[in-house]
Amino acid sequence: MLKAAMSFIFDPAPQPAVSIVNSAAKFPVRRIFCVGRNYADHVREMGNDPKSEPPIFFSKPADAVVESGAVIPYPSNTANFHHEVELVIAIGRGGANIDAGAALAHVWGYGVGVDLTRRDRQAEAKKAGTPWDIAKGFDHSAPISALTPAAEAGDVLNARIWLTVNGETRQESNTGGMIWSVPEIIATLSRWWELKAGDLIFTGSPEGVSAIATGDVIACGVDGLAPLTFSIGD
Ligand code: MN
Repeated sequence: MLKAAMSFIFDPAPQPAVSIVNSAAKFPVRRIFCVGRNYADHVREMGNDPKSEPPIFFSKPADAVVESGAVIPYPSNTANFHHEVELVIAIGRGGANIDAGAALAHVWGYGVGVDLTRRDRQAEAKKAGTPWDIAKGFDHSAPISALTPAAEAGDVLNARIWLTVNGETRQESNTGGMIWSVPEIIATLSRWWELKAGDLIFTGSPEGVSAIATGDVIACGVDGLAPLTFSIGD
């Protein structure tokens, strides 16, 4: 007997997805997790002690993803809009309570992303102890490069990570400087959520975050991965 097709009261939203290098197929995005305060020098520039706290997790909606080449509108309700370049993990096989020693087997591939941030709103939220959603999880807040399969990505866990604004270097560091490593992030995150194929994890930004404005062109990368470029519109 045929099962009746599910009907919806309006068309479901399109599946958020990210391109894959040298492939016509796309990576379907399920959730976007982010790690805060994961490079010692960035933690210091934000006024915190790098060794004093466990990793901080927050999230962005899956439909906040934006592909390379886009014009991203300057967001509402901020006068201090910041870039944070980050290595992004693309999960291909889910799991809960994953051991750090087995964590890399859950990785499908990697990309480079920018955790766009309303820094003024984040500072207010930190002071008031309120959630970070309006500071971090707004529309178009997760631009990301085409993804590279892990087997083709080179040593991205110890690679140069960089970002330029209008050709001027603002961030340049090495992913080996993470406080919490990629396997430790996956292991810890999987104790709070059961990870699923399609999850993306932004792994935190190195030092050098700064403000961007309408008309700016941002380029960034992690050596061994496809770069990401986008510009800021009105
Ligand atoms: Mn970040």
